[in-house]
Amino acid sequence: LLSLDDATVRFGGRAVLDTVGLEVAEHETVCVLGPSGSGKSTLLRAVAGLQPLSDGRVFLDGRDQSGVPAHRRGVGLMFQDHQLFPQRDVGGNVAFGLRMRGAGKGEQERRVGELLDLVGLPGAARRAVAALSGGEQQRVALARALAPSPRLLMLDEPLGQLDRSLRERLVVELRELFGRLGTTVLAVTHDQGEAFALADRVVVMRDGRIAQSGSPLEVWQHPADAFVARFLGFEN
Ligand code: ATP
Ligand code: MG
Repeated sequence: LLSLDDATVRFGGRAVLDTVGLEVAEHETVCVLGPSGSGKSTLLRAVAGLQPLSDGRVFLDGRDQSGVPAHRRGVGLMFQDHQLFPQRDVGGNVAFGLRMRGAGKGEQERRVGELLDLVGLPGAARRAVAALSGGEQQRVALARALAPSPRLLMLDEPLGQLDRSLRERLVVELRELFGRLGTTVLAVTHDQGEAFALADRVVVMRDGRIAQSGSPLEVWQHPADAFVARFLGFEN
């Protein structure tokens, strides 16, 4: 479904994304791990069409996305800092992608209700976004990204601000949901437990490059090098 071919993003001569090759198959959930600044968010933004490539290409369904604007790519991105619309209520935020797609009022309301139940905010549609806690806003952003059922769903630290018990519950529910809907997912997380619970495949990034890609078990049992091993918390 997704294929990156030597994708490179430079800022002032520094390659923040450095000749990255990555394939994500349909229905696969891939989790990207890596230290702060290793290029994880840049990778998602490049796939979404929000960050132009300096070099290389992004393909979706085999089609080169060069010059295809973000809203025509059919991918959903939940931002690290969620970027909700502060002037719209919770329901208005979640329904945004549905409206863009031309869904009717009834369908919008039904979907919004379903999604808010899913993220643990039942009945919150009329609440003001500004009055929500950080974790609640994150859950609204997750519901908004899920709403239009994008063919590729990209999540940037989707559960970062949530407490452990909610995170553990959501990881299980998301995995079940993605399986049921057949959603293809590319998710960034700094939480290894989350990555290993959610992912079919784990990608570890270092300085804009992919240090290792493999099944959670493979990466855990056979870290490709000392960097990956250290990052996973092994002593050496
Ligand atoms: P984190 O875990 O902290 O979110 P990340 O892996 O998502 O980190 P990115 O946000 O992709 O990292 O950033 C990678 C590097 O690129 C960082 O060093 C960052 O400062 C730099 N960078 C990102 N966007 C820009 C920009 N618009 N202009 C200049 N440098 C940028
Ligand atoms: Mg980031």
